[in-house]
Amino acid sequence: MSKRRQFRKLSLPKPKRVKPFEVSAPQSGASAPQLIRGMKDILPADQIYWDFTRNVARAIADAYRFERIDTPIIEDIKLFNRTIGRQTDIIEKEMFTFIDKGGETLALRPEATASIARAYINHGMLNLPQPVKLWYMGPMFRHNRPQAGRYRQFHQIGFEILNEAKPVADAELIAVTSAICQDLGLSVVFAINTLGDAVCRQAYLNELAAYYRSVRSHLCETCKRRLVKNPLRLLDCKEPSCAKLKTSAPQIADFICEDCKNHFMKLLEYLDEVGAAYVLDPSLVRGLDYYTRTVFEIFLKDSDKVDELSRQNALGGGGRYDNLVEILGGRATPACGFAFGIERLISKMRDRNVIIPTTESAKVFLAVLGESAKRRALKLFEDLRRAGIRIAINFSKETLKSQLEVANKLMVDYTLILGQKEVLDETIIIRDMSTGVQEIVDYKKILIILKKKLGL
Ligand SMILES: [Zn+2]
Ligand SMILES: [Zn+2]
Repeated sequence: MSKRRQFRKLSLPKPKRVKPFEVSAPQSGASAPQLIRGMKDILPADQIYWDFTRNVARAIADAYRFERIDTPIIEDIKLFNRTIGRQTDIIEKEMFTFIDKGGETLALRPEATASIARAYINHGMLNLPQPVKLWYMGPMFRHNRPQAGRYRQFHQIGFEILNEAKPVADAELIAVTSAICQDLGLSVVFAINTLGDAVCRQAYLNELAAYYRSVRSHLCETCKRRLVKNPLRLLDCKEPSCAKLKTSAPQIADFICEDCKNHFMKLLEYLDEVGAAYVLDPSLVRGLDYYTRTVFEIFLKDSDKVDELSRQNALGGGGRYDNLVEILGGRATPACGFAFGIERLISKMRDRNVIIPTTESAKVFLAVLGESAKRRALKLFEDLRRAGIRIAINFSKETLKSQLEVANKLMVDYTLILGQKEVLDETIIIRDMSTGVQEIVDYKKILIILKKKLGL
């Protein structure tokens, strides 16, 4: 293909008269399709927070040697039914499910840990050096009642450590969580509990069920059902009448076996060591069935108290899931993980007026006038960018005035001006933005000249 043709193919965007992201009032006309209930657009003005959050998570993941994984948004519904547990709110009420054209029942993932356990098995990750440390970020879906700050499509950042039984893994996750929050300008406190394991939990569940049977008439209808199949879930009920009853419920700490107790004590020692702030919360069970031993939730440090109300404001949570891989048909693989809600993190950052460090901003703006200059500018822009010049351009602005306005807004040091005349003369203009002084220079020498001016 000739050079000329390649240039033709790169057609320039047509100048637009509308300022797409500065429109504050919605346009009139009732016929436009509306955003689906519980969904949210993330507009350009918000992206600075999203980028910052993602970048912080990525940097911490690199530092702690977690590797990125992405699993699909859609999974077989069985994956979640088998792992999250049938008596949980997620499975009972909140899952987005549908039958596809092939007749399979599928679900939009309500969380990612089950998918990651599935991937660990499917891809034989057992054969990799252990433990396998993975992290992810992406959208999750829960069909819950929309309320302020809660969306049906929300986004999580999560970290998982697979095939590590020792409490140091639980502690590492809490350290990672702390580090991310700290870098985001949020100081946090952890609510922690242990749920015991297969050895000791049953005795506790029996006791718990006996207690709740004695107060059965005060329970909500859902809890009456849960009482038979999954008494642990009663501790998680948000109904005021049920929530009140849990203060007198038996506590797991009095039932856990020696191994579980040691695991928990070791974890707390680690946390004291790293200086993580935590409170013990004996009624913390988390809304999923696959947890064993450690569970924790993350709160802003100055939330008044970690009570039922603020629990709904947890920034995230996690815990150990030693049986999850086995439940899905893999070998016994002790593991733990946690996830953050990105929307929650960002709303707290906004509340606290966290100042987002600006990314390296542009130093040079390329202003272009006329068709032939535009064609040349495409290559020039890319050459300069690749040579390490922090340069910006705005093809949709036509006049020099409007382009200089953009350059001013970006607070660049220099603006390059390329018009028809300069193209013919093989020159280009450099404008010093602080003095307004312009000089005409040889087009071919522009990189060298710019580098000198910018001290590169
Ligand atoms: Zn209840
Ligand atoms: Zn135990």
